[in-house]
Amino acid sequence: IKKIGVFTSGGDSPGMNAAIRSVVRTCAYLNIECVGIYRGYQGMIEGDFKTLDARSVNNIINKGGTILKSARCEDFRTKQGRKKAYDQLTKEGIDAFVVIGGNGSFTGALLFTEEYNFPVIGIPGTIDNDILGSSFTIGFDTAINTVVDAIDKIRDTASSHNRLFFVEVMGRDVGHIALNAGVGAGAEEILIPEQNLGLERLLDSLKRSKASGKSSSIVIVAEGDKIGKNVFELKEYVEEHLPIYDVRVSVLGHMQRGGNPTCFDRVLASRMGVKAVESILEGKSNLMVGIRDTKLVLTPLAEAIKAHTEIDEELIRVSDIMTT
Ligand code: ATP
Repeated sequence: IKKIGVFTSGGDSPGMNAAIRSVVRTCAYLNIECVGIYRGYQGMIEGDFKTLDARSVNNIINKGGTILKSARCEDFRTKQGRKKAYDQLTKEGIDAFVVIGGNGSFTGALLFTEEYNFPVIGIPGTIDNDILGSSFTIGFDTAINTVVDAIDKIRDTASSHNRLFFVEVMGRDVGHIALNAGVGAGAEEILIPEQNLGLERLLDSLKRSKASGKSSSIVIVAEGDKIGKNVFELKEYVEEHLPIYDVRVSVLGHMQRGGNPTCFDRVLASRMGVKAVESILEGKSNLMVGIRDTKLVLTPLAEAIKAHTEIDEELIRVSDIMTT
């Protein structure tokens, strides 16, 4: 292996830059050429490459987003698209790549490596923390801290006006952001896709909360929640059935994907980048770097894309107890 490509793909997440930096610097350390591929698979197909040396990644460890940009690429879903990508990589002399992204990006990488026997290693970069084979994905810690910070602020105004707030958070089909940030911010209820509380239980819980003397309430709603109503419909429903509450809605949106990465995400990204490059040089491929019990582990990409990480049942219990 003489030249390794690196790119970010799918939704961006804070800490992706720290991962790019780590891959680039590990290559420099091991005297291997490193090529940045811009805009994910789209840039791969178009040959949008730039050689990166140790100095190309100065001052990015602290920055959100991704200097290599990210894109969705329909072309790569087709055999012809992947052939174009392969031709571009071969022309440039790239003989392995590190993909930083989520499930979709790994699915594409897997198809590619099966078709061309091309060495690839994945690094999980998504705020959703939904990838099997890693207890944490890069960006998750930053996102939950951003959400906690936002909810702390919402709580100030909620309690001044004795209001109930429904706060919608990201997370795609899983409730990791909602559950962790909800416990961290002291939410009254947390609605996640893994556990459908039902509307009755929500009303009961809000009634109890009011009766017990709480003047304001925060309910976190994961975007993938299955209660059957979105946050705006929930507001109407509660106003209709529980007129004791003055209800407001806050959808946090894309702010959750941005911001300077936390130290945890920077360290995780740095560790994963080193492991990814070293794994390629050890002749490994089709694997994703993950972390379990503070140790880095490798999981076949085919496994990683199969399912989501399970929700932490113990944390659900803690959350139930905390809302007493
Ligand atoms: P996130 O979860 O943060 O959105 P992701 O990696 O899952 O990240 P996707 O948009 O699902 O994001 O995938 C990124 C890119 O990976 C797609 O635009 C496409 O180019 C490629 N890709 C996704 N699924 C496939 C597939 N089944 N076959 C080939 N390529 C794919």
